[in-house]
Amino acid sequence: MLNIADGQCGSCKHFGDGIPQEQLVQIRVNHTANDDTVGGCDLAANASMHLKVSPIGSCDGFEAADAA
Ligand code: SF4
Repeated sequence: MLNIADGQCGSCKHFGDGIPQEQLVQIRVNHTANDDTVGGCDLAANASMHLKVSPIGSCDGFEAADAA
């Protein structure tokens, strides 16, 4: 199980393309995700390269997701 800190992809509003909505809500509420979770990033600069990230990744484009 991955533990997601503030500032990491799993708590970022750009994270989650390709992850079922219900699972994404659980990731944001619980700040945890399964070890094999990978999602797309829709930040324009990253989406253009079809970046896929782990919930514990990060980048300077981080923006907090709305509290679920
Ligand atoms: S790569 Fe950056 S912008 Fe994309 S989800 Fe992670 S922190 Fe957010």
